[in-house]
Amino acid sequence: MKKNFIFNEVNKLKGIGPQLSKYLKKKKIEKIKDIILNLPYSETDRSKIFKVNELEVGKIQSIIVKVKKLNFPRIRNLPNRIICEDETGQIEIVYFNSREGYLRKIFPVNERIIISGKVNFFKKKYQITNPDYVTKLDNQEYVTQNIPKYSLTKGINEKKYRSISEQVIKNIPIIEDWLDQNFIKKNNLIGWNESVSNLHNSKYSKDTNSKSFRRIVFDELCANFLTLSENRKRIKKKKSPKKINLKYSEFVIKKLPFILTNSQKKVLGEINSDLLSNNRMFRIIQGDVGSGKTIVSLLAIINIIKSGYQCALMSPTEILAKQHFDLSKKILDDLNINLDFLTGKTDYKKKKKILSNLSNGKIKLLIGTHSLFQKKINFRKLGLIVIDEQHKFGVKQRSDLAKKGGSECDVLLMSATPIPRTMMMSLYGDMDISRITEKPANRKNIVTLSKPEKKINELWPFIKKQIDLDNQIFWVCPLIEKSVFLDYSSAKKKFEIIEKKFKNKVGLIHGALEKDQKQNILKEFLEKKISILVSTTVIEVGIDFPNANLIIIENANKFGLAQLHQLRGRVGRGEKQGICILLFKDGLSKNAIKRIKILKQSNDGFFIADEDLKLRGYGDLIGYQQSGVKNFRFADPIKHQDIFKLAEEYVKNIKSEINQKKYSFLLKLFDKAEIININEI
Ligand code: ADP
Ligand code: MG
Repeated sequence: MKKNFIFNEVNKLKGIGPQLSKYLKKKKIEKIKDIILNLPYSETDRSKIFKVNELEVGKIQSIIVKVKKLNFPRIRNLPNRIICEDETGQIEIVYFNSREGYLRKIFPVNERIIISGKVNFFKKKYQITNPDYVTKLDNQEYVTQNIPKYSLTKGINEKKYRSISEQVIKNIPIIEDWLDQNFIKKNNLIGWNESVSNLHNSKYSKDTNSKSFRRIVFDELCANFLTLSENRKRIKKKKSPKKINLKYSEFVIKKLPFILTNSQKKVLGEINSDLLSNNRMFRIIQGDVGSGKTIVSLLAIINIIKSGYQCALMSPTEILAKQHFDLSKKILDDLNINLDFLTGKTDYKKKKKILSNLSNGKIKLLIGTHSLFQKKINFRKLGLIVIDEQHKFGVKQRSDLAKKGGSECDVLLMSATPIPRTMMMSLYGDMDISRITEKPANRKNIVTLSKPEKKINELWPFIKKQIDLDNQIFWVCPLIEKSVFLDYSSAKKKFEIIEKKFKNKVGLIHGALEKDQKQNILKEFLEKKISILVSTTVIEVGIDFPNANLIIIENANKFGLAQLHQLRGRVGRGEKQGICILLFKDGLSKNAIKRIKILKQSNDGFFIADEDLKLRGYGDLIGYQQSGVKNFRFADPIKHQDIFKLAEEYVKNIKSEINQKKYSFLLKLFDKAEIININEI
């Protein structure tokens, strides 16, 4: 077999037609290598042959029986039934939609055959419907094994998948290993071919510390780190240094109603030296909610514009973009900097004008949503792209973005998602990282309290007082995984209860709303038309609601620490003391109690992210999933810490060899090749 074989589409395999490929695609199995990487999570034990009277309902079992009689009803839609028996009793094998000829062939009357499948009991009879295996006794050995169990979706049956995966595993070409034997031995790994074939035995795939598993983890991490380091090399190319004049930003700093924190100053310094350097900037500012990232980026923007370039500032939502626009207008007021605002809603005439003023260089700063990066938008001399709150920006998007800006354009991202330290490298290894670790001096810590849900009645007077004081309240409802509808119905119920108590003062926002509807409700809240906003967790990251000072989080044990911290960061962003009340059901687990304690004790997002990872473990980082933090299939930053270090070291020591064939194989295996355009094998 050729090496390329494993990168073919699955439909190149015998027995896979268009229908099955479609189902496999749903499981993200598109290429043959995806079958290799789809490991069994358990196994089905069909090894023992049972007597009919020993069968257990609901289990997958195997029997040897004699075929007695086949019934093919003449009425459509009735199932075909085959009666079989052994010396202890009878069993009925049931088929829907099977051809008579086929069944007569595999169920020869009076012959003994082996059948394996899930046992049912119906109308006082044992039954197996659509058995997984029906075969002659010669094949007994094939059926009665421990058979690896893969997680499969509708439309793919186990037997079929088994025959496909066996076909593949048997035919994996021998790969010339990219690791040398000494390295493998020294680090308790195993050769690639051996590893992948072992891993289709659930004994190895379930043991995340087996040599075979460790090997695939190492490979996954290497592919990841290699991609990042390659991306970095390509982006941080030479550019002309920007001759920045700090006069203007210093003028602005003096005028600010506050003093920059040391952290902010340090980060600004890091950015400035990037601008001055002759390599492109590719940097991310990480800082907790409210740590003051925006002003830092604006100061950098001023520096760049005043050295003759244009800038683009992009936000994920319109409200956030508008907030940035209003703030920028205020701050850039006497600097004679022309700025404008562009979103998907900007009308045609206005847009046309913006386009022309961008290409003739009149507009210096364009703020908006992702519509800033439409094809027809051309800047005359773009010097910096700033992206706010884009924690969903993966490597691919970052690489595309950097290309879009052109070779003179610096790139700055901002993120408020605290990332556990151990995961920084694997997420942002291609970027330089600046961290704002301090909070503005005037910022009070958010007071965090907890309360059992059954005492919710004690809250109403407190809430009433808040409303009388003209304060605003977020009310976050329990999160129900994977069901927008259930999330909605529980939030709606709560909304109705609260609305009864505080007429016309309550709004509801949830995941099933259209983007526009969401934005409208947020706007109403921002404009203080309502006092309480009941929501599922869709409250936008990053929007400043300076008047909101109380957040109530129901069923708080459903959220992870980092998420709770993010949520409570929605309040206390203005003058008022922020308060967070965590509501719990009875009977808290030890772990939940620890989480409350940590939240009460710390307001530091980075500390909390680290603790979160420790407490819950990587496998359980549900809330992180969408944010892209959980980006590994095999590697676990807690269980495999040593391999993370090893892979990091290994990749650092690869000099310019990335184009060698062996690495392109690895990158293709983990779908990284296309990110950095390696296609030759
Ligand atoms: P984030 O990092 O979450 O984007 P923002 O940039 O929105 O935070 O800042 C939050 C608020 O803090 C803003 O109202 C901003 O004006 C204010 N702020 C920023 N830096 C300071 C500072 N050094 N001292 C006091 N307030 C500050
Ligand atoms: Mg922000």
